[in-house]
Amino acid sequence: MTRSQELFEQAKNTIPGGVNSPVRAFNGVGGTPRFIQKADGAYITDADGQQYIDYVGSWGPMILGHNHPSILDAVVKTAANGLSFGAPTELEVEMAEKVCNWLPAVEQVRMVSSGTEATMSAIRLARGYTKRDKILKFEGCYHGHADCLLVKAGSGLLTFGQPNSPGIPEDFAKHTLTAVYNDLDSVKAIFDELGSEIACIILEPVAGNMNCIPPVEGFLEGLREICDQNGTVLIIDEVMTGFRVAKGCAHGYYGVTPDLVTLGKVIGGGMPVGAFGGKKEIMAHISPVGGVYQAGTLSGNPVAMAAGLAQLAELEKDGVYESLSAKTEQVAKGFKAAADKHGIPMSINYVGGMFGFFFTELETVTRFDQVTECCMDTFKAFYHGMLEAGVYLAPSAFEASFLSLAHSDEDIARTIETADKVLAEIAA
Ligand code: PLP
Repeated sequence: MTRSQELFEQAKNTIPGGVNSPVRAFNGVGGTPRFIQKADGAYITDADGQQYIDYVGSWGPMILGHNHPSILDAVVKTAANGLSFGAPTELEVEMAEKVCNWLPAVEQVRMVSSGTEATMSAIRLARGYTKRDKILKFEGCYHGHADCLLVKAGSGLLTFGQPNSPGIPEDFAKHTLTAVYNDLDSVKAIFDELGSEIACIILEPVAGNMNCIPPVEGFLEGLREICDQNGTVLIIDEVMTGFRVAKGCAHGYYGVTPDLVTLGKVIGGGMPVGAFGGKKEIMAHISPVGGVYQAGTLSGNPVAMAAGLAQLAELEKDGVYESLSAKTEQVAKGFKAAADKHGIPMSINYVGGMFGFFFTELETVTRFDQVTECCMDTFKAFYHGMLEAGVYLAPSAFEASFLSLAHSDEDIARTIETADKVLAEIAA
C-alpha cells in the first residue's frame, strides 16, 4: 500500500469521503488521490515522494508556481505582525486600489474569504439592487456552492453526475433559471417571458468548470445588451479567470463591461480569498452604506492580502501574460499533435493560462452537451497514464487545467513527450 492509499483510508474515517472538497476524491477518474506533502515551482510531491509536473495549481491560484519567494516573504513578514485583527488594515486599502486600478469596471470592491462567498454576495447585492428574485445562470457553469447556484452546476457536481444538490428547497431553486452556454437564443427566450423579473445573469466568461470553453463571438456582447434592455445586472464570475486569462481579466480580454465582477484564486496567491466589486452605484447598496447585508470575520485577512498583493506585483511585470499564454498554447498544441499522430480524435481549447482537451471527433467544443458526449474512458486512461509518468492534470474531464509561469520549456517538453507515449499506448 502506498502512503497516499494509507492516508486516504485513514481520512475516510473522520472526513466524509476522505477529502475536504469533492473533486479531490478522484471519483471522476477512479483510483487513489495523491496526498500532497510539498510543492515548489511547477512541481508537487506526494506523500510517497513521487514528484509531478503540476497542471492543477491548487485549481488556479498558483499562477507563479508554488512557493514563489516574494509571496513566501510577504506571508512570513506579515504573519509576524499578527494573523487577524477584525479591524481594517492598510493592506486592504492597497488591495482594493490595485483591483480598481487594474479593472476599470470595478469602482469599489469588497473582500471575502472564498469564491463562493463572492458570488453568493454579488447575487444578493444584485437582488437587493434590482428588487427582483430571479437569477439566470448557464448549465455547466459553477459559481461555488451557494444554494441558488447549485442548479445545473458544473465542476464536482458534473463529475458526480449530480448537477442539482439535495438540501436546496424547491422554493429557492425555482428562482434560478438556466440557459445554454454560448447560445444567446436560449437566453433571449427566457428574457422574452421573464425579463422584468430577472435580477442578474451570472456566468463564467470562459467556462472552466465543464472543462474549458471560451465564449463564442458575440456571446458576451449579446448578454450585455440583454441586461441593458431589461435592467438586469451582468455578473461576470472571474473567480477562475481573473488575472489568469489576462491582466484585465477575461472581461477585459473580450472587451465586455460587467456591472459586477467576482474574483478569487489568483488574487489570494494561494490563501483563502474572494472579492466582488463593480459599479459604485450598485456597491453603495452593500452594508454598512446600504441595506444589503454582507460581512466576514476573516474578510480582508492581512496575511491573505499580503500574499495576493505580492502575486499581483509579479503579474504587473512586462510580458508575463504573453509568456503564460505562449506556454499554455505550447502544451495544448503539443497534446493535439500527439493525439493526431496516434489517430486519437482530440479537440483543444485554450486561452491565457488555462486549457482543456476533449476526446471527441468534433473540431471545436463550444457547448456543454458536447463535453458530456466526449469519451470518458479515453480520458481516464490518459489521465492515469500521465499521472503514473509524473504529470498531474485535473482529475476530471469536466475541469480545466492550468499553467504557471514556473513551467519551464523543459517541463513542457517532458509533458508533451509523456502525452505522446501515453497516447501511443492507448492507440495500440
Ligand atoms: N466561481 C468559479 C468560476 C469557480 O471556478 C469557483 C471554484 O472553483 C468558485 C466560483 C467558487 O470558489 P471557491 O471554491 O473559492 O468557493
